Amino acid sequence: MHKTALVLFSGGQDSTTCLAHALNAYERVETVAFDYRQRHSVELQARLQVLQALRQQFPKWSSRLGQDHCLDLAVLGEVSETSLTREMAFQMQTDGLPNTFVPGRNLLFLTLAAALAYRRGLEVIVTGVCETDFSGYPDCRDDTMKAMQLALSLGMDKRFLIETPLMWIDKAATWRLADTLGGQALVDLIVEHTHTCYLGDREHRHAWGYGCGECPACELRLRGWQQYRSGQAS
Ligand code: ZN
Repeated sequence: MHKTALVLFSGGQDSTTCLAHALNAYERVETVAFDYRQRHSVELQARLQVLQALRQQFPKWSSRLGQDHCLDLAVLGEVSETSLTREMAFQMQTDGLPNTFVPGRNLLFLTLAAALAYRRGLEVIVTGVCETDFSGYPDCRDDTMKAMQLALSLGMDKRFLIETPLMWIDKAATWRLADTLGGQALVDLIVEHTHTCYLGDREHRHAWGYGCGECPACELRLRGWQQYRSGQAS
């Protein structure tokens, strides 16, 4: 049985739910984020608040939650031109991918996460990638994850498990999963502290959390929330 995990934790709804899953399942859990000069560092601030709130409100998880790591990945901004790293408007590209797609981003994240996990003696790498997401990023697909798990395990001569709790569920089910893992307190924490909005909006507070309410990330979060809430009512 695996006992230790490293969670790719950005401070958004998905990775916070993944962190709760890991804290439920493993005895020692560490977190990692990547600073690639996202247009909005509000994400990186949100994650520290989420960690603090988790420690305060969930004593049973607090003792399992270990070191937090933030790796500098400014180089990613040098090789990519996307609406996440440059002052560009969000749009769909001719290849059907949104211009928020940073080629190879998740491959790089997982490689660095595995190197860190190797050094820290962590067995499982948990990531919130999802095939049911609207975006269809090829580096979030299950096949890619399986290939990465094999490549990293062979390349470091150590068996890594890449775990993807959200791979086959939609945003409404992600809210339900949070509810199952940590009840209303965790749902409230995610609403209040996690950040999803592409525009970095922390001024407008909605029932589902902060955000501009109009960018694709906000739309997705809103729709998932509505489905989750109507499922609760019925
Ligand atoms: Zn937004």
